[in-house]
Amino acid sequence: MANTYQGSGTRRGGRGGGRRGKPGGRTGAARTVALRRNAPVERQPVTMPSVMSVAELAESLQTTGIEIIKELMKLGIMANLNQQVDYETANKVAVSLGWETNEQVAEVVQQATADFESRKAEAETDPNARPRPPVVTIMGHVDHGKTKLLDAIRSANVAEGEAGGITQHIGAYQIETQGRKVTFLDTPGHEAFTAMRARGAQATDIAVLVVAADDGVMPTTREAIAHIRSANVPLIVAINKIDRPTANPDRVKQQLAEQSVVPEEWGGDVPMVEVSALEKLGLDDLLEVILLVADVNELKANPHKPATGVVIEAKVDRNRGPVATVLVQSGTLNLRDVVVAGSTSGRIKAMFDDHSKRVRRAEPSYPVEILGLLEVPQAGDTFQVFDDEKVARTLVDQRQLQRRADALVGDRPVKLTELYNQVQAGSTAELRVILKADVQGSLGAIQNALLKLNEDTDQSVQLAIQFAGTGGISESDVSLASATRSLIIGFNVRPDAAAKRAADTAGIDIRFYNIIYNLLDEVKAAMTGLLAPVFQEVTDGYAEVRDTFKLPNGDMVAGLYVLDGKISRNVRARVLRSGTVLHEGGVKSLRRFKDDVREVAAGYECGLGLDAFNDLLVGDQLEFFHREEVART
Ligand code: GDP
Repeated sequence: MANTYQGSGTRRGGRGGGRRGKPGGRTGAARTVALRRNAPVERQPVTMPSVMSVAELAESLQTTGIEIIKELMKLGIMANLNQQVDYETANKVAVSLGWETNEQVAEVVQQATADFESRKAEAETDPNARPRPPVVTIMGHVDHGKTKLLDAIRSANVAEGEAGGITQHIGAYQIETQGRKVTFLDTPGHEAFTAMRARGAQATDIAVLVVAADDGVMPTTREAIAHIRSANVPLIVAINKIDRPTANPDRVKQQLAEQSVVPEEWGGDVPMVEVSALEKLGLDDLLEVILLVADVNELKANPHKPATGVVIEAKVDRNRGPVATVLVQSGTLNLRDVVVAGSTSGRIKAMFDDHSKRVRRAEPSYPVEILGLLEVPQAGDTFQVFDDEKVARTLVDQRQLQRRADALVGDRPVKLTELYNQVQAGSTAELRVILKADVQGSLGAIQNALLKLNEDTDQSVQLAIQFAGTGGISESDVSLASATRSLIIGFNVRPDAAAKRAADTAGIDIRFYNIIYNLLDEVKAAMTGLLAPVFQEVTDGYAEVRDTFKLPNGDMVAGLYVLDGKISRNVRARVLRSGTVLHEGGVKSLRRFKDDVREVAAGYECGLGLDAFNDLLVGDQLEFFHREEVART
C-alpha cells in the first residue's frame, strides 16, 4: 500500500528540504530524534482523521497553533484554535509544512469494511453455508405484552440440557422447539431495532409484532410497522391477550389491514397468530409460524470461517470488566479469538451463554456474552475476528479517530434536508429555528403557524424557535444559530455580506421565503421526513479498459486510458459493455505507476480496481460520476 498523497508530499518535502533542518521550525521532539539517530530526520507520515481541530492538527504536525493558523491564512481560511478543519484542508497544511500524509490506515478500515460487507453477501452463494436459526425481534405498543410473551416463550421452551439452569438476561436467548433452535433478541421495542439499523447492522431476520386483542392498533404499533417495512424484514403478527373477555381479534386484523398489514387468511402476506402470553396459549403455533417463515427465507451462514456479527448489548461489569453480548452472524467465534467490535478490540477470555454456562465456541445465530474486550462497544456495533492482533489495533485506532471526528461533525448545525435522514433512521429530532422577518405582523403570524406544526402528533420532529425578530439576518443571528445548532429562516429578509460569509464558514443553513405558505409547507415536509435532499448526477469522465490483470488476492486491476474529463478515487463508476450497464459501484484503487493517486486526467493511463467487481474485459468503457445535492428552489 503506497502512502503518499499523489507523491506531492515527498516532492514538496524535497523542495522544502532546507526547512526541515531549520531550527525553530520544528519542535523539540523531532530534533531529539535526529540527534539520537545522528541522521537526517526521517519522519513517519502522519495519519489524519476526516475532521480535526486546529489545535489537534498542530499537535500531530508537531508545531504550534499559530503556525497552523498562518498556513490556513495562506489558504484564505481564517481560523481559531478550536475551529474544525476537514481532511483536505489539513492535508494541504501538512504538505506545505513538509509532511507526508498517510492514508494507509484508512485503507485498512476500508478493506475491513469491504470484507464485512462481502462476507454478508457471501452467505447466499457460499457452498459451505448451512441453515442457521432465525433471529427474532418482538415489537409492539407498550403494555401489549412483549415482555410477557418473551418470558412465556423462554420458560416453555428451554433448550434440552439447560432445564433447571438459571436463565440470565444477556440481551438475547435461544430456545428449542421441534428439535430446532430459535434466537430471540429480548430487548423489546423498536428503539433497539432502529439503533442497530442506524449503525448499519441488521440483526433481525423476523419481526413479531405484538398487538393486544383488547386494545388494537396504537401509535407505536404503526411506528413499528413502518420500521419493519422499511427494513424489509418478514413480519408475523401475534394478537395477544385473547384470554381477555374484551378481546376482539377480528377488529385488530381489520385495523392492521388498514395499515396494509393484511392477514394471510384474507389473501394478504402476513401470518397472524392468536396468543395469550398470560395463559400460555398459542405459543407453539407462533413458534411454528416462525420456523415456517425462517424456512421460506432460507436463512443460512457458513460456520467454517472466522466469525462476524453484531453487538446486542454491552456494559461494564464491576468484577468482570467490559462485557458484551454478541450475536454471531457468520462463521464461528472461538475462545481466544481476537475481535474488533466497533471501536474497541480484545482477545476473548471467556464466553457464556444465556444460562451463564461457559462455552468455547459460538456458531451462527448463537448469542454469547464475551469477556476480554478492552472497552465497552456500543449496541449495534458490528464485530469481526482478525488473525492479526496488529491489524486489529490499527483498525481500532482509526475507528476511534473517526468516531471522534463524527462526534465533532455531529455538533454541526442541522440542515433542513439532513432532518430527512434522521427521520428515516427513526430517531426523533428537534428542529431548532431562528426566525427573521421584515415586519412584526408577518413574524407573529409565522411564529404561530410554525408552533402549530408541533401539535400534529404523528410528527417525529419537534420544532423549537430559538429566537424570532425583525430585520435583516446579521452576523449575530448566525453565531446564535451556530451555538444552538439552529437553522435560520428568513422571511422577506436577506443576510448582509458579513453574515453570509459567517454562515458559509460555519455551515449554517439559511432558507429564504417570501410566501408564508411555502415556508410552512417546506418546514412541515422536513419535519415529517418528506423533504429528501435532491441529488443530481454529475459525470466526471470516461475511460476505456486497455488491459486487465489479476492480483494474487484474486482482485482484478484494469489498465485504463482516460478518454474524457477526469477520473478520481472517491467517485462512483459504471461499467458499460456494448452500451449496457453491467455494474455500478465504488472505486477501490487508482494508481499511476506504483503510486496511489486521487485523480487521473484525460489522455493519461492508470491502473484501477473496482469495489466488488472483478470481471472487466478489454474494451469495456467506464463512466465515472458523482451525485451532488441540488439546492431546492
Ligand atoms: P410490554 O410493555 O409490551 O412489554 O407489556 P408487558 O409484557 O409488560 O405486559 C403488560 C401487561 O399486560 C402486564 O400486566 C401483563 O401481565 C399483561 N399481559 C401480557 N400478556 C397478557 C395476556 O396474554 N393476557 C392478559 N390478560 N394479560 C397480559
